[in-house]
This record gives sequence, structure tokens and C-alpha cells, in this order.
Amino acid sequence: MGTFYQPQCVLIDTDTLNTLPDRELVSGIAEVIKCGLVRDAEFFEWLENNMYALLARDPSALAYAIKRSCENKAEVVALDEREKGIRATLNFGHTFGHAIETGVGHGLWLHGEAVATGTVMAVDMSYRLCWIDDSIVKRVHMILQKAKLPIAPPETMTVDMFKSLMAMDKKVADGVLRLVLLKGPLGNCVFTGDYDRKALDDTLHAFCKS
Ligand SMILES: [Zn+2]
Repeated sequence: MGTFYQPQCVLIDTDTLNTLPDRELVSGIAEVIKCGLVRDAEFFEWLENNMYALLARDPSALAYAIKRSCENKAEVVALDEREKGIRATLNFGHTFGHAIETGVGHGLWLHGEAVATGTVMAVDMSYRLCWIDDSIVKRVHMILQKAKLPIAPPETMTVDMFKSLMAMDKKVADGVLRLVLLKGPLGNCVFTGDYDRKALDDTLHAFCKS
């Protein structure tokens, strides 16, 4: 208890993916897209160009996407074994996403679907803070739509629901909600509680009807 052991080797049988329905596969692809977005611009671009091959379950495209995702994750974990700063960046889109999963009731939206919408919301907020330019916003919309992932929360989600559910996030420290946000060129992000609260409010109001 309280100890961490990293694996000596990771073996992934990609044929197992063929047992998954499309919706589950695409849900997983949301996490792969997130991975490129927060730390690997070159991989993100590869995903933009190979999304249809992934959706068609092309074996070599799937193998490459999985390998690159694992390499990214291993790098992050090696840098930060106990989930503090940099490791939290893999949670990009998850604070908004977890609020959606809890808000609509677990099981209705798949995790990756909630993460996809959470990604769009975190990108929107990063743009409102003037931390990224609008080309990134457009590219994120395009790639998620290509993957047929949802880019807006369900209509039942309200601003107040987001606020109260996000306040329960494990990344709240001393009453401050810390978020992973994009900052700078594609492939860069920060984990911070130091942002203009108005940007968060504006994002929530932009995505919720009430
Ligand atoms: Zn996740």
C-alpha cells in the first residue's frame, strides 16, 4: 500500500479492439486526441490526417496511435510518478467531462464522449483567456466532428450544475479550482488555478442554455 511499481513491459493485443462497438472505439479515440493536443502537436496532426483510417480500424493506424499514446503517457508518468503537476495534464477536458458524466448520470454518456465535450469547453476557455489562437479552436472542432464525437454538453446541463459538480473535482486546492488549459502553440498546456474567473463563467454560459 502506498507504493508505486511501474510495469517492465506493456503488451497490447490490438485485435481486442475488434470486439468493441464503434461507439466505444470512438470514445477511446477522444483520449488519444486529447493526448496529442496537450503535448504532441506532431501526433495531433497525424491524427487529423489519419482519422478515417482509425475509424475504419485500419490495423497499422490503430497500432501507431496506441504506441504513440503509450509513449506519451509513459513519458509523463516517468516525469511525475505520483500525479501532481504534469501528470494532471493528461486530465485535460476531464473536469468539464466528469461534470457531464455525473450530471447526466453515469452510463448515458460514455467517458470519452464526455471528455470530447470537456475538451471543447477547455479549449474555448483557453481561447477566451487569449492563451491560444483560433486556429487551434477550429482544428479541435474539426477533428472531433470527424470522429463523430459530441462537442456540446446535453441540454439538461446548466451553468449551476457545472459549477457545483466541478467544485467537487479532486483538483480543487484551497478552494481554488485548478484546470488544465492550453497555452501557446499546439501541444502546450498548463495546470493552474491562476486564470480569470470570468473566462470560466463565459465558457459555461456559452455552452449551457440556462
Ligand atoms: Zn479519461
